[in-house]
Amino acid sequence: INSTQSRDSGTADGTGSSVNTIIHKVAMVGDKGVGKTSLTNQFMTSEFVAFETDNDDDETDRHVTVLLNSEESTIKIVDGALKSQEFSSRSVDAFAVVYSITDRASYQAAVDILYHVRHQLDIKDKPTILIANKIDLVRKRKVTREEARSVAKQYNSKYCETSAALNHHIDELLVGILSQIRLHKTPGLP
Ligand code: GDP
Repeated sequence: INSTQSRDSGTADGTGSSVNTIIHKVAMVGDKGVGKTSLTNQFMTSEFVAFETDNDDDETDRHVTVLLNSEESTIKIVDGALKSQEFSSRSVDAFAVVYSITDRASYQAAVDILYHVRHQLDIKDKPTILIANKIDLVRKRKVTREEARSVAKQYNSKYCETSAALNHHIDELLVGILSQIRLHKTPGLP
């Protein structure tokens, strides 16, 4: 299944409840060490997650099924190692762009990714969310909330501050990503 908003034929975990659940693909991108793996792992513990889908056909991507407003959606976190230029509109529904507030270079890299997304024709209208991670490390902060917020606004992106270490704002992030995707759903599609 490689198209966006593809339909799953069911799950292998025996719950059977995700028949016809739409799979939304989210690219988690950003510099190495900013916390992409940690955030993805924390998603699996969120109270919004109905279950973690069995995933043996795919070693790198993780799925979670989220129940929000009585509607179930499966989110697939796709490999963050890819550069934004390598994604196409077919391969991804949203971009989660992560940086660490302790690492100025990672912030610059995140801004570059937002720029690329907004200037690449086939993905320029995709929802993006700029994620300032490691906000527990307040004293090492190198990027202010104000500048990040204003850059996010400039690129028509949501802004979210998280700490994967403290499990802070992880639910908000997951729900924020899903809400953005649902808002963006192509009119006319079921
Ligand atoms: P990735 O390379 O982007 O996947 O980053 P990882 O998830 O592997 O995290 C890199 C390092 O940062 C690890 O040592 C994590 O434990 C640490 N880390 C990730 N998120 C946080 C956070 O929110 N706060 C703190 N203090 N450390 C974090």
